[in-house]
Amino acid sequence: MKIKIADLEFEQLITYEAIQSRVKQIARQLNKDYENKNPMLVGVLNGCFLFMADIVKQVTIPCEIAFTKLSSYQGGVSSTRRIRDDLDLTVNIEGRHIILIEDIVDTGNTLDYLVAKLKQRHPASIIVCAMLVKPDALEYELKELKHIAFEIENEFVVGYGLDYMEMGRNLKGVYKRII
Ligand code: 5GP
Repeated sequence: MKIKIADLEFEQLITYEAIQSRVKQIARQLNKDYENKNPMLVGVLNGCFLFMADIVKQVTIPCEIAFTKLSSYQGGVSSTRRIRDDLDLTVNIEGRHIILIEDIVDTGNTLDYLVAKLKQRHPASIIVCAMLVKPDALEYELKELKHIAFEIENEFVVGYGLDYMEMGRNLKGVYKRII
């Protein structure tokens, strides 16, 4: 089924059920890897909010949550490469085990910037869980990228937290642009 958001048309790429199944697998691994480590899950807003919520609901070990906000797409369908730092982390992460929760990694520019910035604050460790990665678009070597729910083609997607012109974030699944 096609859906329309503003001037663009989209069709479903990943169902809600498929996402939930991957979320459970990733959370199970986190429960194992971070037992007795009291990790801090740091969501990268805005796009992470549904993925973060679903992951957190499946994490059964003691953990804390925090958020930061960055933006690089700024309304369009491709990265501007200019990162806007909208909200800095307000908690002290020194000596903490950090699990960054990202919506989507495209060129990797945003994540590379964020990981470098957080490393300066001396966390004990830092890894990244990303809902989506576009391997063909990736321009950075991101050693911290440990968990990927889905790899997708180099295409524009919305839904499950991701927007086009600030719309479509409420869609349960992930939808790709029909060209
Ligand atoms: P990067 O810095 O890796 O090139 O881009 C990462 C950011 O661009 C993501 O956090 C997200 O905000 C945005 N982005 C990248 N690809 C897409 C996409 O296909 N759809 C949407 N809605 N945003 C995207």
